[in-house]
Amino acid sequence: MRVLTIAILIIISGNLKAQKFNDLFEKGSLRIDYIHTATHNNEIISLDEFYHEPYWGGSEVNLIDTFNYGYYKFEMTDSISSKILYSKGYSTLSAEWTHTKEAKNNWRSFSESIIMPFPKKTIIVNIYKRNKQQDWEKLSSILVNPTNYMINSDQKTKIKSFKIHDSGKPSKKLDIVILAEGYTEQELQKFMKDAQRFTDTLLSWSPFNNYSNNINVWAVPTVSKESGTDIPGKGIYKNTYFDSHFYTFDTERYINTVKNVKIRDAAANAPYDQIYILVNTKKYGGAGIYNYYSICTADHPKSGFVFCHEFGHAFAGLADEYYSSDVSVENYYDLKKEPWEANITTLIDFDNKWKSSVSKDTKIPTEININGNNPLGAYEGGGYVEKGVYRPLPDCSMKSILHNKLCPVCSKAISDLLEFYSE
Ligand SMILES: [Zn+2]
Repeated sequence: MRVLTIAILIIISGNLKAQKFNDLFEKGSLRIDYIHTATHNNEIISLDEFYHEPYWGGSEVNLIDTFNYGYYKFEMTDSISSKILYSKGYSTLSAEWTHTKEAKNNWRSFSESIIMPFPKKTIIVNIYKRNKQQDWEKLSSILVNPTNYMINSDQKTKIKSFKIHDSGKPSKKLDIVILAEGYTEQELQKFMKDAQRFTDTLLSWSPFNNYSNNINVWAVPTVSKESGTDIPGKGIYKNTYFDSHFYTFDTERYINTVKNVKIRDAAANAPYDQIYILVNTKKYGGAGIYNYYSICTADHPKSGFVFCHEFGHAFAGLADEYYSSDVSVENYYDLKKEPWEANITTLIDFDNKWKSSVSKDTKIPTEININGNNPLGAYEGGGYVEKGVYRPLPDCSMKSILHNKLCPVCSKAISDLLEFYSE
């Protein structure tokens, strides 16, 4: 009887939450595009355009982001009561750029978007950044009247999307939209096969394999005029849909695109929580930025691994646990502060990381035992530096391409988010 009562209560509270969602929001998403202009120690946000997009892929129940990941976050508040109606953390390519040498003497602009359920009433959207003290600092405040006739509701880029992994209602699932890059009209069959292949790889990878019924995957076959992608360091330039390129910030394998408006316009053809851009080339490369996008090449022998590794960044905000490869960013982590990423620590605030899962017998920091089993601990090296940043295990897929398994800390961060998206 008690079990039944609890079950009924859960159903009622679920219905109340859904009711609340329908009271506050109408069908579709509000997308706000802005220009993010930054240098190494300063940044500004200026508005670009507003859109009413056809789908909302996010939860209708979990509207407030409880994870506190990302270098940025936005909050949608009621314009009268100031109550927070929706919030989400995210990171950007511009934030990475501010850590490059180039940013020491230059300003640069990036187009970015934030997406939220479309409000019924006038709202205020506040965008925050993490300052050097790791506290949230307001960057911008945007008043949005949903009846404003300057909100674009004519979808300019209509492309038929295909559901390649169907688990049901998008509001109760993690929805991933895969976009084609560097595939010509004649190569679209290949794109569909590639998208299916990477979907199968991700869904066979732990912990995603335990949640395949909580995930939808959509494919949007955007057509490029030429096959492949730009390799600027080799003088190769291709006319492709998203104008992607290797050599981002002078790192050869770092492939990205800054054509944010085209990406968002294409993604709007499906309900989505995560964007994945699949690039038609054999060359090794990828990138993943938290709640921004993932990008990966299709035909390198290690592409399946890279696909999953980059998704770890983009979906769960996981940090790179490696420290020996070349990267273009400098002093990425302040060793006097605890980083926000779940899978690395400076030991400044280890209590709020995975310390409670570490056995009392394990010494912190933890030395690698070359001959034996290494327990969960805090092993020095990670986040692009050899000293001062610690990782949970000697090896993890967020550290090495040779290790095709996530450590328990990364795995838990992903599982927690999958639960959040699928309630
Ligand atoms: Zn890990």
